[in-house]
Amino acid sequence: MSEFDYIVVGAGSSGCVVASRLSEDPNTRVLLIEAGGSPEKFWVRAPAGMGRLFLEKSINWAYFTEPVPQARGRKIYWPRGRVLGGSSSVNGMVYLRGNPEDFNGWARLGGEGWAWEDVLPFFLKSEDNARGASEYHGAGGPMRVADPTFVCPTIEDYFRSAENAGIRRTFDHNAPPYEGADVHQHTIRNGRRESAYTAFIKPVQHRRNLTVLTGTQVLRVVFRGRTAIGVEVRKNGRDRTIAATREIVLSSGSLNSPQLLMVSGIGAGADLRRLGIDVRVDLPGVGKNLQDHWFSPMIWRTRADSSFNYLIQGWRKYLSGAQYLLSHGGLLSNSASQSAAFVRSSDAQARPDLQMVLRPLSYTFSDSGAVIPDRFPGISGGLVLLNPASRGHMEIVSADPTVAPRFHPNYLDAADDAERTVKAVHLMRKIMATDPIASRIEAEIAPGPQAIGDDAILEHVRAVGNCGWHQVGTCRMGSDEGAVVDPRLRVRGVERLRIADGSIMPTITSGNTAAPCVMIGEKAAAMIAEDRGGPGL
Ligand SMILES: Cc1cc2nc3c(=O)[nH]c(=O)nc-3n(C[C@H](O)[C@H](O)[C@H](O)COP(=O)(O)OP(=O)(O)OC[C@H]3O[C@@H](n4cnc5c(N)ncnc54)[C@H](O)[C@@H]3O)c2cc1C
Repeated sequence: MSEFDYIVVGAGSSGCVVASRLSEDPNTRVLLIEAGGSPEKFWVRAPAGMGRLFLEKSINWAYFTEPVPQARGRKIYWPRGRVLGGSSSVNGMVYLRGNPEDFNGWARLGGEGWAWEDVLPFFLKSEDNARGASEYHGAGGPMRVADPTFVCPTIEDYFRSAENAGIRRTFDHNAPPYEGADVHQHTIRNGRRESAYTAFIKPVQHRRNLTVLTGTQVLRVVFRGRTAIGVEVRKNGRDRTIAATREIVLSSGSLNSPQLLMVSGIGAGADLRRLGIDVRVDLPGVGKNLQDHWFSPMIWRTRADSSFNYLIQGWRKYLSGAQYLLSHGGLLSNSASQSAAFVRSSDAQARPDLQMVLRPLSYTFSDSGAVIPDRFPGISGGLVLLNPASRGHMEIVSADPTVAPRFHPNYLDAADDAERTVKAVHLMRKIMATDPIASRIEAEIAPGPQAIGDDAILEHVRAVGNCGWHQVGTCRMGSDEGAVVDPRLRVRGVERLRIADGSIMPTITSGNTAAPCVMIGEKAAAMIAEDRGGPGL
């Protein structure tokens, strides 16, 4: 049986960071285990390739939710990266930390040591921001964060119209006032996707004390009594056990870390017994508290010069491809998600609760998960509902770890979520009816002119709304009985087992979730180093 000091399960946004930082100490043997394989594929590295990765089964867990009652019983497609880099190898690369109050809220909920002033240094540590170092940004860290290489004039007009409609123009979503309209920054390096793998593991893969096992699924955690001592893995149909002498860190993401706990006997006792699983620790919080961002799509037909749709279709798409191959430049070197306005749905909100994304192109998500670009010149909005009140859960239906769990996200379950979503559509319409962007718009295609009243808008949102794939919270951190991990991310009731990924978030952050997951990886690694008696990282 092979043996390491630390085993990290899952090479995603958090796991790559944990493994990279722990292996900085040459005397520490670290094993990083990933179910998926190599991310060295054209459409992974080309930033605009995200839409193509949605249904790419070779690098994707490709989950579906259970029917969502408030979304006409639709099953929502949930892509998740199953590849080195995890979801950071298939995501939209938007770099957003969230609002400082998100983290202060974590601290108030029992996450001691996770307030904004505690986590900011870890955000800065990872970062290599193209704008250089400042109070709010890091430079020289492993992960490149950059501005779009060009901004479509339609997007500039969106900012002007937002300003004319009373929403301020800002110049950094990751700095005060955390409110207003601006371009997104992205994790893109020289026109290529910067995933957690390319930032944190690829440059240090030569380390003799770091082993990366791909194509290897962890089946369960192995215990002696209540102490985690190893993991059982399957590679090419063969099962074996690998030992960890110090700790095991689950970084398998919000959909798989709770599954691994449950199949290893940690979860709601009655549920586990029903599936024939021996209960090691009765922790009813495992798999609960599932949160995600729901978004309402909007589409407008524009003047021909105002949309990029024509560049991604017909013969011109080959031109865009050739330009990218020659220089790593042009349309394919940018994320489609260029901009957003962070706004409050009403004055009653203590902080922005809407992220109103505008893209210079338009497409429709089919229920199968396919992304279908529109054939007319169009632009599209994604009105993301931040701070959702709705809570879902996930459950396993088999003791077999290779059987997909079931997910019940409960989108729009809380009446307040539905109301704020409708307000978002009204607000976006107000901006789009304001010059200068109004002069580029020929017609609203979705929801369309027939959807005037709140009920009709809500129907649209239920019928075609989608999500941000920001699932978090299923192994919630806290100091109460319902928490799954304590503030040092140790699984309650057992020894030598931690969780470091999006699942530990008590509440979802106000924005896209990859950067917070990287921060969680940084902080986890530092706490592990501290707890073994070292100076921390
Ligand atoms: C399509 C899409 C678009 C997104 N766009 C953005 C965006 O633009 N900006 C942003 O900030 N966020 C975005 N997100 C969300 C963000 O990418 C995730 O929140 C974040 O990457 C999650 O990090 P994680 O470490 O928790 O999990 P992951 O990055 O998903 O990593 C988990 C890893 O564990 C592996 N794994 C799971 N189970 C096992 C097992 N049993 N054995 C071995 N390995 C296992 C998985 O294969 C995976 O590699 C997007 C997500 C998706 C899916």
